[in-house]
Amino acid sequence: MRAIDLHVHLTPQCFQREVLSGRTFHGLTAAYGEIDNPRNAWTPEQRLHDMDSMGIDVQVLSPNASFYKYDEDVSTTTAIARDCNNEIGEMIKEWPDRFSGLATLPMQDVSAAITELDRCMNKLNFKGAQINDHINGKTFDDPVFHPFWKAVEQLGAMILIHQSGSTVVSARTKKYHLSNTIGNLTDRTITFACFVFGGVMDKYPNLRICLSHGGGYTSFGIGRMDRGWEVKKEARGNISRPPSAYVSAFYYDCITHSEPALRMLIDTAGIDRVILGTDYPADMCIDWPTSWVLGLKSLTLEEKEAILYKNLEKLLGL
Ligand SMILES: [Zn+2]
Repeated sequence: MRAIDLHVHLTPQCFQREVLSGRTFHGLTAAYGEIDNPRNAWTPEQRLHDMDSMGIDVQVLSPNASFYKYDEDVSTTTAIARDCNNEIGEMIKEWPDRFSGLATLPMQDVSAAITELDRCMNKLNFKGAQINDHINGKTFDDPVFHPFWKAVEQLGAMILIHQSGSTVVSARTKKYHLSNTIGNLTDRTITFACFVFGGVMDKYPNLRICLSHGGGYTSFGIGRMDRGWEVKKEARGNISRPPSAYVSAFYYDCITHSEPALRMLIDTAGIDRVILGTDYPADMCIDWPTSWVLGLKSLTLEEKEAILYKNLEKLLGL
């Protein structure tokens, strides 16, 4: 059985060469890129060996999210993005059967982001991009992003939503790793809600948005969003259908670290909406992803095949 992983990160060698020689990479130091994790230093050949050991046929690589750098001036962010994306482009060229790519983009400037996405899709054979839950605090219902969603639709790009660094939980507490273990899921749920309540999914019905980490608390919390839509005028401003009508408009990776939560996600969103993601090589990843999925007792073989490769084969032509 094949396995295609949509949620997997790369700390580019071009960055590591600079910072490990005492220089900076467009101003970034060794504090970025999670290079304290030894697997982030691995060569593509070492990575391929590791993929073989886990039963992963294809990794759809995204640059480590610390390279978003939306707070820099746009020329610096664009230079960072181009270098990171080019390295993934080289890996795709050398191992077209093993690697594919999602770009990082200078999202603080929508027209620069569209230019880089277009370059990655049409020149480097990428499948889409990975972006944060918000851009310097702006959520995706903001009209400033409308041209971006239009371009994403036209280019047929898949957009993976993934946090970087602090989340909404960080403002409340920085203890116990909760900014990640709860914050990632909270941020993802807010992102779902902003897309839906903001009317973005109605305006751009062909968008392909994947909410990482199983879409956070979306599948668990959708009933309360529906209730808010029923009773509060402010929740109905942009949409004529309840939020639950949009759950199946998104894609979700399977990183729930819980079989009942994954089962609930499948039952809420539909099996054609759930795809393999591992978070490789982060410490919060699924250690043995194919074994985990294959061993789940509440999923049928057809559901396991859909998650492991069939959905992404169809969606991305891999
Ligand atoms: Zn991740």
